[in-house]
Formats: sequence, structure tokens, C-alpha cells
Amino acid sequence: MKIGVLAMQGAFIEHINSLKKLDIDAIPIRYKEELDKIDGIIIPGGESTAIGKLINIFDLKEKLKTKIQEGMPVWGTCAGMILLAKKISNSDVVHIGLMDIEVIRNAYGRQLGSFSVKQSIKGIDGKPFPMVFIRAPYIKEADKEVEILAKVDGKIVAAEQKNMLVTSFHPELTEDLRMHKYFIDKVKNH
Ligand code: GLN
Repeated sequence: MKIGVLAMQGAFIEHINSLKKLDIDAIPIRYKEELDKIDGIIIPGGESTAIGKLINIFDLKEKLKTKIQEGMPVWGTCAGMILLAKKISNSDVVHIGLMDIEVIRNAYGRQLGSFSVKQSIKGIDGKPFPMVFIRAPYIKEADKEVEILAKVDGKIVAAEQKNMLVTSFHPELTEDLRMHKYFIDKVKNH
């Protein structure tokens, strides 16, 4: 089993390191041909506008979209969540646009919008999960088919729809590997 991490911009090395700690063969994805070598993909946090432009420039977008539509498991963290959303409240742009969620970018404010909390997540056993938010989005609206996995202050910060998983926060910036394990299981079961 091989998991790819979209390596256009943002926190992709951190995800690769987390996956390697779990003995997963993890590779950075920069070219569309590489999408044929993987069983699942993580779209990391960073800047959604930049990542969105780069997947066009590198001609990755259409193939990535097709792979996800065919069922390849994908996990979008932070900017990755924005890229997967069908609607961004405070923008007219749609990037990959496959998940039935409406998100708000920089939902906690631009400068002071970074914080961390501990909160339980549906499907993650044990103690509350450390959630690191960096100028994060949250889900304003989710369709019936979307399962809500976690909320912070009443706002949805983790959700799942079939093969698509999204989190507003950054598990790859913590030592807690349970969310990565959760995604690995998703890829294994696919
Ligand atoms: N604010 C960023 C965006 O809108 C997301 C921040 C992050 O990924 N940590 O793309």
C-alpha cells in the first residue's frame, strides 16, 4: 500500500513523516503520472489559492478529480478541505469541488486565527484529540450524506463523505498519529 501526499505547497513533508512513523510507504505527488502509483492521497494544509493554481499549472487537477470520483480515498487537511469543498462562502472559486460541504476560509480571523484545543472525534478512540488550527476554515453547511465527525464551539471541523475525509486542523503537526491511522484504515478498506 502506498499513500501519496500532494506536494505543491504547504505542510506535505509533515504528513509524509507522520505516515512513515506508521510504516507506510508515503510519496510526494507532483506529477499526474504519480497518481497511478498510489492507493490514497492527502491534500495538505497551506494556502488553498496557491495549491489550487499549482494543480492547474502542473495539470494534475482533472486526473486527481477523476481518481477521487472513482473512489480513491482522500484526506484534506485545512487548505485541503477548502480544495475539496463544492462551495467556499467567501470566494467564488471552486477548486476540486467534490464534497457536499460549504466552507468558510480564514473563518477564525486572519492574524489571530491560530489556536489549539483538545476534542473528541467520532471514530477515534481514547483521549480527546489535540487539534491545531492555523487560519483554518470550518464547515458552515454539510449535506445529509456528509457524516460529521467533530465540532468545536458548534462549528464542524471534521467530516467524512464516502471516500473523502476532511479536517480543519493539522494532525501532522502533532505527535498524535490516530487520525493518520484512521485514514490508513480507510485506504486499507478500499
Ligand atoms: N487559510 C488557508 C487557506 O485559506 C488555510 C490555512 C491552512 O491550511 N493552515 O487556504
